[in-house]
Amino acid sequence: MAVTPLHDMPLEASTPEPEVAAKTMLAQRVTLLLDRLGRLTRELQFVDGLNPAQWEVLRFLAQANRYSRTPSALADYLGSTKGTVSQTLIALENKGLVDRVKKTCDRRGVELRLTDEGRAMLARDPMRTLEKAIDDMAMDCGASLVRGLSKLLYELQNRHSVMQYGICQDCSLFCVNHLTPAETTHHCGKTGDALSHTDRNQLCVSYKSHDTAGSAE
Ligand code: SF4
Repeated sequence: MAVTPLHDMPLEASTPEPEVAAKTMLAQRVTLLLDRLGRLTRELQFVDGLNPAQWEVLRFLAQANRYSRTPSALADYLGSTKGTVSQTLIALENKGLVDRVKKTCDRRGVELRLTDEGRAMLARDPMRTLEKAIDDMAMDCGASLVRGLSKLLYELQNRHSVMQYGICQDCSLFCVNHLTPAETTHHCGKTGDALSHTDRNQLCVSYKSHDTAGSAE
């Protein structure tokens, strides 16, 4: 029996309430596409002797800010137990990709860092193939994806009470100081620390989203 490809399926439904049925069908299509993408990207990450969780740790450490490169923040980000994260970190340390250093400001605190080998490994991140595919799409299509997927992620995080990690410049605590028209600095409304351009684009364990649905836009 011939099967209609997903992208050729009509949105209109022949029920008495076509708008409701079309909305449901659209939701089902998005769910199926996300599931397929998730499976594909997971498979791609069994490469170079690493698994998806280990790649995710390398990515997190490359993106996390100074408050967030700790085992407990990492466990929150991954939604894993500290024991599971500890096993992943041990595997990465044994491969020479990650190391732990004592924080100078907190004798009991540990900061996780990518080694040079870890950074070199990340340069071969298999998820770059996804990045390249998105990069090849039209600009407005990529921007629509960011808006739609960001809203979807926030919605799911709220429904399931999952911790919201986000980029510093999208945080409700992110403060912009306009010194002069030509000079702008930023600081964190929680710690008062100055935030550099690099800090602005990093993930933060203390991130707080704006309450409005359009905060990701
Ligand atoms: S502004 Fe928000 S995301 Fe940025 S450092 Fe402060 S708490 Fe973290």
